[in-house]
Amino acid sequence: MNVVVVSNRVARAKPDEPLAGGLAAALLPMVRDSGAIWVGSSGHTGDAAQTHDSFAKVEALGSGALATVDMPAKHYRGYYEGFANSALWPALHSRPDLIHVTADDYTSYREINAFMARALLRFNKPDAVFWIQDYHFFMLGAELRQLGVDRPLGFFLHTPWAERRTMSAVPRCADLADAMLAYDLIGFQTVEDRQNFEDYLKAELCLNVVDGMVASHWGFTQLATFPIGIDVEEFSARATKAIGRPEVARLRDSLRGAKLALGVDRLDYSKGLANRIRAFDRMFEMEPALKRSVSLLQVAVPSRGNIKAYRELKSELAALVGEVNGRHGEVDWMPIRYLNKAFSQLTLAGFYRVASVGLVTPLHDGMNLVAKEYVAAQNPFDPGVLVLSSFAGAAKELDAALLINPHDIDGMARQIAIALKMSVEERRERWQAMVRKLKAASVQTWFADFLRTLSDIRRTPLRAAARPIVLELASRRAANNH
Ligand code: UDP
Repeated sequence: MNVVVVSNRVARAKPDEPLAGGLAAALLPMVRDSGAIWVGSSGHTGDAAQTHDSFAKVEALGSGALATVDMPAKHYRGYYEGFANSALWPALHSRPDLIHVTADDYTSYREINAFMARALLRFNKPDAVFWIQDYHFFMLGAELRQLGVDRPLGFFLHTPWAERRTMSAVPRCADLADAMLAYDLIGFQTVEDRQNFEDYLKAELCLNVVDGMVASHWGFTQLATFPIGIDVEEFSARATKAIGRPEVARLRDSLRGAKLALGVDRLDYSKGLANRIRAFDRMFEMEPALKRSVSLLQVAVPSRGNIKAYRELKSELAALVGEVNGRHGEVDWMPIRYLNKAFSQLTLAGFYRVASVGLVTPLHDGMNLVAKEYVAAQNPFDPGVLVLSSFAGAAKELDAALLINPHDIDGMARQIAIALKMSVEERRERWQAMVRKLKAASVQTWFADFLRTLSDIRRTPLRAAARPIVLELASRRAANNH
């Protein structure tokens, strides 16, 4: 089996470099160790005709390889900042009010998906299996089929799939959902996401889903759940090692015996940063005795800065942090340390280990790997407490965390105070329950389970019989489109 993994961006990070998000963090070690080829954007744009010929600068990545392509300049913005991140991302995270998109953006999204499909043809070998990642490429499978690709096609959605009325706010959403059914297997982070997708198919496309299987004019598609994990041992080892790093030692020394609460997020409206800061503020009002005994380190990594909603969020948060520090701070103590920069995972592991409380309070999140990394990095004898939003996919597994509603500021404030005072016995008990679950569902398991399911599906006789008809229909559709 020749696995071709496709995502918008790829990662090359060395241990000392930050990663751009959960998708990169999960895939990097998997590609490195499995021998897969990872295909994505080079981060540059070019002339579509030319780049197609010179596609895929290929370089080694452990036992695997990275192949990158310059995306067509004419369409990249409309695809990435437009349709993907100003229509799909807000809707998938239940913020349809932030959808801001034009018909041209949709055209660009389609064009980039079609471009990537053409570029992938060079990997269309008899033993190839294509595994497409995330909302940037909902239509890539359909484009591949229309080019005559008959290899197994899998898709994994790293974000949530919101309830059907919310998704209907995305222009042309029904076309996207239809195109998604060209995949043989669609994986979701949680059962709820999968059910929302099934509801959408039933209500908007009048399709029936039986035992996670749906039949459409594309053939059969299996819908399943594969919660993404982390390498617990690796993260735990990193945390032990990182304790000696200068930045981690400086952080610990600067606390002068006080406790640290830690947040690590991309600067994104889905992460609930403003409510988290308000809850911290509220906690000091409710329990003034906690002042000076704890401070919050919030790492907020700049993200998608060309999009207005993100720039506005950045200003809002800077003002809010200033206000809270102004209200509670003293000449020799500030409640919140707020940083707009990224750290390597090694340094982060050290920060996690120093922090008595990990704050992961998104309004909506597909999974949230930071929550899992925080747990894995703790000292087993004196672990910190995870305060976790019940709206993060991770809450399904990490139900031994202190679960909070990120919209309830007072409730969150109370839970942070409880976390700060929790006995070591209770901390250990909760931590052990969480680590057990994390070990049972690692990133290695996620990767292997998805690929096993994908190759098994293709072996069923029903599917094999349907293939020629499906391909014939796809090529007729392609002919009609031109
Ligand atoms: N991360 C990093 N450096 C930073 C902040 C985050 O390497 O300064 C990594 C972090 O370790 C995690 C990922 O980025 O693996 C974030 O994934 P998560 O699922 O929490 O959120 P996403 O950004 O994908 O929405």
